[in-house]
Amino acid sequence: MLTSKMHGGIIPPIAQDLHRKNIENVVADALKEANLSCNEVDAIATTVKPGLPLSLTIGTKYGKHLCRTYNKPFIPIHHMEAHALTARMHDSTIEFPFLVLLISGGHCLLAIAQDVDKFLLMGQSFDDAPGEVFDKMARRLKLKDILEYSEMSGGQAIECAASKATNPLEFNFTPTLLRYRDCNFSFAGNKNQCVRHILAQERKHGLSPDAIIPGVNNLCAGLLLVMTRHLCHRVQRGMEYAALKHLIPSDRRTLVVSGGVACNNFVAAGLQVLCDGMEYKLARPPHKLCTDNGVMIAWNGIERWRANKGITTDLDSITIEKSSPLGEDVRKDVELAN
Ligand code: ATP
Ligand code: FE
Repeated sequence: MLTSKMHGGIIPPIAQDLHRKNIENVVADALKEANLSCNEVDAIATTVKPGLPLSLTIGTKYGKHLCRTYNKPFIPIHHMEAHALTARMHDSTIEFPFLVLLISGGHCLLAIAQDVDKFLLMGQSFDDAPGEVFDKMARRLKLKDILEYSEMSGGQAIECAASKATNPLEFNFTPTLLRYRDCNFSFAGNKNQCVRHILAQERKHGLSPDAIIPGVNNLCAGLLLVMTRHLCHRVQRGMEYAALKHLIPSDRRTLVVSGGVACNNFVAAGLQVLCDGMEYKLARPPHKLCTDNGVMIAWNGIERWRANKGITTDLDSITIEKSSPLGEDVRKDVELAN
């Protein structure tokens, strides 16, 4: 995370080096804090997919090494499944099945979590992930210079700039896919609308790409608003599909939102309005559990351990995967049913 913020993005070999240098200490510190020895744990859970192969390799090799040394079973974890299940750690009243929206730096997924290891994938982004758009636009708008931050992510910076808007409705960007009846997402169109506006401003005022364009805060508010509207619109489609197919009992409808972008209070407020209208409960884990963290991987391990799912002692069968879909793809069915 630190490298990502310092370099404006993740650089795979640097990330791998940092993983290699830190993994032993991170595990030792966690055990020390929990007052446990490795002999006392039941199993070792490690992320094996999806993600940067260079980083996944380090974690998976070390996880296997611990399993061999202490004679423990291995629990391979899907990064997005872990984002989805964190909410159950924070709020034990959340039962399967529930609707889950995962909005992060690399993904935008809408699914029904039917069980620890059973997801129905209803929609995903055709292009950029929302966190990716925020990170790119924060860089393009030089928000680091304007807000004088070094520790904020791009998404936080956009949220902060948007909160300072003098006219949040100045930019009336058009939400995408309004006429499509599925649950997929697309953010590239709105990102391009923003970029076109920036280029036009640079031309109009004779600014170099290093300069800061006027009205940045209003532009951030416009981008945040249109992306929130789009997210809510597509999630509503998902809720309608779930009702049509009786996928979620009507007396305990829950929408879980997680992933780094779920930290955004404006997005959460939009989803809350939608949930109120559709009689859903909105569940959002605390910020530090929405963005990447080790606890969610450990929790996913506990969920799988309790359900006795995917635990293995055959370490040679474990492989990492750069990309991996989450669950059964029902997107075609959603499109036809709605
Ligand atoms: P993935 O989970 O898809 O592999 P990732 O692990 O890189 O991607 P996360 O750690 O879950 O993503 O989230 C990081 C993303 O969340 C970044 O793109 C960041 O800009 C975004 N983000 C963090 N805080 C906020 C916020 N307050 N508003 C909007 N976006 C935010
Ligand atoms: Fe993540």
